[in-house]
Amino acid sequence: MNKDGHVLNAVLLSIGLGYVLEPAGDFSTFRTIAEVLIPVTLGALFPDVDTAFGRHRKTLHNFGVLGIFLAFPVVFGNLQFVWIGVLTHYVLDLLGSKRGLALLYPYDEEFSVPFGVSTSSKYANTVMVAITAFELAIAAALVYVAPAYLPQTVLDGVTTFLA
Ligand SMILES: [Zn+2]
Repeated sequence: MNKDGHVLNAVLLSIGLGYVLEPAGDFSTFRTIAEVLIPVTLGALFPDVDTAFGRHRKTLHNFGVLGIFLAFPVVFGNLQFVWIGVLTHYVLDLLGSKRGLALLYPYDEEFSVPFGVSTSSKYANTVMVAITAFELAIAAALVYVAPAYLPQTVLDGVTTFLA
């Protein structure tokens, strides 16, 4: 996926997350959009830093990097929401291009899915919007459906990432 696709995905996802987390549609919704927009967009841009530092689609496109951004809110109490941008970047790269990602880096093998579209495809933006909608459906399910089925300790852990 190109840089503009990653940014557009992050912006649309953040607007949607604002409504998922604060559905009222008033000031609290727009405040939440503002709260998630910058961290998610920064996270969505971060993995491609490895085009300049490291090896592209390897050094910063793996579960270890995602784990670091998941750990920051817990360990240091900052960088909330950035992991969402990193995760959606990986999803978009997997589905919005033909080349895979070295998700288990430093193990060099690149993993891909058999149904991705190429970066230059005229469907690239359609796929990006569809992925964004799918991610928002998952977010809504996690916020509104999952709590009824998950034990309290898991819910407390999730709250740590979103609060
Ligand atoms: Zn990338």
